[in-house]
Parts: sequence; structure tokens; C-alpha cells
Amino acid sequence: MKIVLIKSLDVSDSLFIKVSKLAASYFNKFEIVNFNSAQEFHLESYDAQKYFDVCLENRVNNHLSNSDFVFLLTSRKNNQDYISWTDETLRNYFIQVSEWDSFLFSKKIDIEYPISYEIIACILRSLMFDKNLEIKENAHVFPKGCIMDYCDDKSQMGLKLRTADICFDCGERIKNKKVSPLIIGQALNGLEQIRSKVLYKNTQELTYELSRISIRLAYNQKLKFVDFKNEPIKLGVIETAIYCLYLNHPEGIPVIDLSLFKEEFFHIYGLLKGETDRKTLNERFLNNLLSKNFDTRVSNIKKYFDNVVGTRLSEYYIVQNLGNSNYGIKLNRNLVLIE
Ligand SMILES: [Zn+2]
Repeated sequence: MKIVLIKSLDVSDSLFIKVSKLAASYFNKFEIVNFNSAQEFHLESYDAQKYFDVCLENRVNNHLSNSDFVFLLTSRKNNQDYISWTDETLRNYFIQVSEWDSFLFSKKIDIEYPISYEIIACILRSLMFDKNLEIKENAHVFPKGCIMDYCDDKSQMGLKLRTADICFDCGERIKNKKVSPLIIGQALNGLEQIRSKVLYKNTQELTYELSRISIRLAYNQKLKFVDFKNEPIKLGVIETAIYCLYLNHPEGIPVIDLSLFKEEFFHIYGLLKGETDRKTLNERFLNNLLSKNFDTRVSNIKKYFDNVVGTRLSEYYIVQNLGNSNYGIKLNRNLVLIE
């Protein structure tokens, strides 16, 4: 089985090469033929049938077999308003390569990934169904994050990419159709790789949304979200002191070693509370860090950040078990200023 990629003149060589390489890396057991420089097409119509004609012409000229796939990549939209679609043969496809920034709400995702996703999804759909009408009828109108999501609203494309999943029903259909495990295996690997690339980019973007936090260690002072208009972080004095202690230790503090940080806690809490009496400081330390109250304090901190910045961002702010009862805060310390 060959997978043949061709492009219309409006698609850049560099994008075409990137997509070809990606597709070839996912389907490395199949021959991927890249007709880039040999034949290019200038499309003048938006008629989807004309796009398929280009695929057919290519198929004939290159003596391709009926089972080979031809994908025409084009920046042009089409009168069906589809991102990708196929003719009756389920072997000729066009894929629209433009406007992905707006479908994905991001300029940071390299578009060769969503385009390669479409190639994989198209191949799987072709092997799951016998007619293009069947594909249409079985598409999921309500998005499931599956390769069969219809995505009438193209902003739903992002969900498909992030889950890169095949739902239970579609999985059953693939099984019943006895699609070659080799193709399925390579397709699934490809989807997973695309997913991880897209998620990685998302996580990178996320770090730009995090606010710096700062505090001046002095009487009655609070932590602040510097980039959220200096919004004070409304934690009690004990929680604030515990929080600052953990901010000072990016590597985390094992619960059993907490007693080693007594003097540091005295210093921080003493400044925030204006407390100098060592007996009182010691009592606060024992009652809040070396007792069951510690869990309550940590859980108060988590509750606060979950409520204020939402769980997606709070992941970086809360005090949490980083593994082996070593507690810490994930926030990059470049974003922390303690005076
Ligand atoms: Zn499905």
C-alpha cells in the first residue's frame, strides 16, 4: 500500500516536506511517495470534485493501484466546507492546510501535526467504511475526541488532537472490519506522537499564563500575584509562612525532615507575625507543621489556589506531594520574588 502526497501550488514546499516526513515516520512500513516537485497543480475552482479529479489524474499517471491512497494538500477551501474529504473510492482525498491557527486557537502548534493527524484519520476511516456516505452518517455530531468527530464547528478540532483517541464504538468497528493490525498499530503510534507534541506545546503556552508571585517578609504582609494586578494571595499567616518555606526549597522537603526547618520557619513566621518569643514560635511550629494540622494547612492552600486560579493553573502553585512524601511547589522559581 502506498500513501501518495501531492500539493497544489499554493502550499509551500517546506510545509509539504514536513508533512511528508512526519507521515513517512508514522507509516514507516508503507511506501510514502512524495510527488512534490514532479507534479504540482493549480486549482482554480472550489469544487471538491475537481480536487478528486486531480487525485485521479495523478493515480493514472503514476500507475497506482486501487488500494493506494492519494492526498491532495491544498490551502484552498472547498464547496463542501470540509477540512478533508474523500470521493466514492475512499482512496482519493483532499486536506485543507490553511486556517489551522484559528481552528486551534494557537499559533504555537506546528501545523504539520494536525495535517498529519488528518492523514492518519482519513486512512483509518477508509478502512472502517465502504462508502463515503457511511462515513458521513457515522460521524459523531457530538464531539468525543475521536477520529470520527464531525467537527462541524472547526474549533472542536483541538479536542480531537489533544485526545487523539478512537472511541469504543469506532474501536469495535475497526475490529469487526478486521483492519490489518500493522496499519492500526502504526496509526495509533502516530496519533499518540501527535497528541504528545500538541500537549507539550500547550503546556509550554500555559507557563506564559502563570503569574509571578512576590512577598516582602515584614509584619502583616501577604503574598501577591504580581501579574494579576498584584492581587493579594489571601492565606492566613501560618499558611503564608508555610508557603514561603516551601518556596525557598524548590527541590521539596520530605515530611520526615520538616523538623530540620524549624529555624527557617521561625524566621519567616516571626517577620510576618511580628513575633519574637521563641516559646510561642516553637508552639506554632509544633502545632502546625509537626502535627495532623499540617495536612489541613496544605489542604487550605490547595483550596485557595484551586478557587482563585482554577485547577489547571493551581497545579503549579499548590504545595503537593512530589513523590515519596517529599512535598513542594512546582512553580518555576524564576517567577518568585521574596524580599
Ligand atoms: Zn468514534
